[in-house]
Amino acid sequence: MDCIFCKIVEGSIPSKKVLETDTVLAFHDINPAAPVHVLIIPKQHIATMNDVTPENASVIGDIALAAQQVAEQLGIKERGYRLINNCNEEGGQVVYHLHIHLLGGKKMGEILK
Ligand code: 5GP
Ligand code: ZN
Repeated sequence: MDCIFCKIVEGSIPSKKVLETDTVLAFHDINPAAPVHVLIIPKQHIATMNDVTPENASVIGDIALAAQQVAEQLGIKERGYRLINNCNEEGGQVVYHLHIHLLGGKKMGEILK
């Protein structure tokens, strides 16, 4: 499949991994928008938040648990951080493999990106 993030999961495109579990992968964003900018993705290809179903929805919980761990590993869990999902065109989604942005390491502003 011609999906950048599936290729990152397979390892055919390199990434700076932060955390890997059976179901999710977290890696540094190539173009960081904050001092900490990590993407957390399901290993399974799910295109958008609209493609989450009762059958695969447990991965959203897995992503929440991964976010806590990533934030702890990178030393920002207690200071705080922001999770963002962009869904489809008007949401600003560019890569059509579900991902949650974990942003932090500074006081986040009012603009949600
Ligand atoms: P979106 O706008 O779809 O929510 O965000 C896509 C994100 O993926 C962007 O922040 C972009 O910098 C990041 N990105 C795109 N291609 C790559 C890549 O090959 N490697 C990594 N690490 N990040 C990528
Ligand atoms: Zn994919």
